[in-house]
Amino acid sequence: MSVSNIDSLAKQTKSILNKNNIKLNKNLGQNYLIDKNKRDQIIKFGNLTKDDVVLEIGPGIGTLTTELSAKAKKVIAIEQDPIIFKILEERLEKEKIDNVELINNDALNVDFPKFNKIVSNLPYQISSPITFKFLEYDFDSAILMYQKEFANRMDGKVGTKDYSRLSAMLYFKCDVEILTQVSAESFIPKPKVDSSVVKLTPKLPELIGKLNAIENDEISDPAFKTYSNFTKALFQHKNKKARNALIDSRHEVCNLDKKEMKKKLNSITSHKINDLLDQRVITITPEEILYLSEHLTF
Ligand code: SAH
Repeated sequence: MSVSNIDSLAKQTKSILNKNNIKLNKNLGQNYLIDKNKRDQIIKFGNLTKDDVVLEIGPGIGTLTTELSAKAKKVIAIEQDPIIFKILEERLEKEKIDNVELINNDALNVDFPKFNKIVSNLPYQISSPITFKFLEYDFDSAILMYQKEFANRMDGKVGTKDYSRLSAMLYFKCDVEILTQVSAESFIPKPKVDSSVVKLTPKLPELIGKLNAIENDEISDPAFKTYSNFTKALFQHKNKKARNALIDSRHEVCNLDKKEMKKKLNSITSHKINDLLDQRVITITPEEILYLSEHLTF
């Protein structure tokens, strides 16, 4: 990272913040990108054309927004902080940028207008809920900056320490690809954590259908809800055997008491299910969790 790269964008960012007397607010995840190289790389990853409508969550003072607006047909930017919002509104007006729809609200509380791509340096305190909110919409791709450890868990492979409830939940919804790392020095104020830029590509509904074709069934929402409950129960005890994890977290999947649950699990005759129940949670693939969630009815 060259000094001049940090310099230009850092100077511009500090000058905008100072002029407006802004002290950035940690509780809102306000760490502003000052590394021009990384900014340019993120924009490039977006692979934008003049047909694209880009959703950006947490634009801050517009470090990504102005660049996105030059490449895309339109940008929808949702910023919660009313003071930062006002600064960005004035900046866009001054720079005569007229293809940005600015929304001053909590991104978790608004319906998103129509978009086809997402590019955001996210406020990290909402990483999980905002990611699942994205996945309720239909879009082509998302380029997102997360805390490094969170990104690793999104992409956690079965059997590794990063395999988690998050990886298992995302597995059926989207492909996750870690594109590059961004060090804490690339932001002001400097956060305590490093970051990663991640690309999410939603899986086609046809593909989800195929994954599930063995059961001749689709992951309809109720089925995904059951999968989600099983995943939650299992990963509360990811180093235990699935059988014990389900007994300990039975409240996530049924109303049985401990004795009834043990009895129920001990009465299972299927070899496949018994084999899975005897495995440690972190070695069980998402497909196998899905199988359990479909065949264990309490
Ligand atoms: N994208 C900018 C700013 C990133 S910091 C940059 O790269 O420099 C994250 C921004 O998200 C902050 O401006 C913060 O005010 C805003 N924010 C925090 N929580 C939010 C929420 N729930 N909805 C919308 N914006 C939010």
